Amino acid sequence: MNIFEQNESAIRSYCRSFPVVFKQAKGAELVGRDDERYIDFLAGAGTLNYGHNNPVLKQALIKYIESDGLTHGLDMHTDAKESFLEVFKRIILEPRGMGDCVVQFTGPTGSNSVEAALKLARKVKGRRNIISFTNGFHGVTTGALACTGNQHHRGAAGVTLGDVTRMPFDGYMGDKMNTLAYMDKLLSDPSSGIDHPAAVIVETVQGEGGLNVASADWMRRLERLCRKHDMLLIVDDIQAGCGRTGSFFSFEEMGIKPDMVTLSKSLSGYGLPLAVLVLRKELDQWEPGEHNGTFRGNNHAFITATAAIESFWSDTRFAQEVQRKAKLVRERLQSIVQRQGPNSLRVKGRGLMIGIECPDGDLAASVCSRAFARNLVIETSGAHSQVVKCLCPLTITDEQLNSALDILEGAFAGAMAEQIETAAS
Ligand SMILES: *Cc1c(COP(=O)(O)O)cnc(C)c1O
Repeated sequence: MNIFEQNESAIRSYCRSFPVVFKQAKGAELVGRDDERYIDFLAGAGTLNYGHNNPVLKQALIKYIESDGLTHGLDMHTDAKESFLEVFKRIILEPRGMGDCVVQFTGPTGSNSVEAALKLARKVKGRRNIISFTNGFHGVTTGALACTGNQHHRGAAGVTLGDVTRMPFDGYMGDKMNTLAYMDKLLSDPSSGIDHPAAVIVETVQGEGGLNVASADWMRRLERLCRKHDMLLIVDDIQAGCGRTGSFFSFEEMGIKPDMVTLSKSLSGYGLPLAVLVLRKELDQWEPGEHNGTFRGNNHAFITATAAIESFWSDTRFAQEVQRKAKLVRERLQSIVQRQGPNSLRVKGRGLMIGIECPDGDLAASVCSRAFARNLVIETSGAHSQVVKCLCPLTITDEQLNSALDILEGAFAGAMAEQIETAAS
């Protein structure tokens, strides 16, 4: 028995799917202790959009550490935080018409920025209820967990998860039903039994929920519904943001203006913990320190986040590259579906948040373990863990992308063949 099995809590999960000890990582590649190399299609569940140990970010961090820059700073003013705020405002917020927003540094996890958003929405509107959507994932601390759909996670809460009303996400009831018409009807009826919500929290692409995509039209209607019923619109862009769908925010092309946006995962760009809540200035009704936290000043993360924004978002080249690669991956996945299971498999997702839905979780698990046997790290998502999810670093080379997709195609072929054999025997 190794030290992990002996001494690490049973809570460990990803390591069970990928039972090797890693020692190094660079770009889209992981290296095992036995020098075995793996292509990383998990990328820290979307935390490593710019790859492992990105050299530009690493140099900036080394320089900062060598000069004895602050590591921890509570929420004190530091050079590093100043540069981050300036660069984020100039390169991200202002060009996107969000120059009037302020940035709240929350505790360093995505869940904590969701907690902050929910608390502030409830405080500003003086109401308790929040609307979240079927299959949504917003984190596992109590407030965020109440908005999360996943039963496995909800079951661990140990307390009542309340003050949230679930509505059907885009497409949840099939193509023919407009889920927002249903929601509008419920909110317009004073006796529907739904307490007037303070806010709606939504992902534009449900990362953990199975790569369900909200259409631009649905998001625009949702925004209108929020205005009509005086609810705040919170977009949880923790996984879909930071370039994953081909633009910095996942909703940029939709022409909507959320009241609050949560960001974390790839925000630091280096895998360092960092989370923020971006909010319209007039909603910033916090008293000083009302939602505090010891690790709101991770200055190393400010340094790498600043370097990431400067090097990837100063012009449109990186976004165009992501869009080009997304097209390439989509085409390859579509051809896998055509060849391996045109009647049972389906491509899902948007941008480089894309994958293949299987009829069941067993097939998806078999695909992932076959892929791992050929050195591709890839995971599933979805209500039944039925979606094989490609979440490669956005900086991956075409060569790596193609070899990973070759492995994936082989894994699908093997898993489908096995399924047919099992059914026949
Ligand atoms: C990962 C994730 C969270 C939670 O972030 P943690 O850092 O794990 O707390 C919340 N929302 C979305 C959409 C996520 O993908």
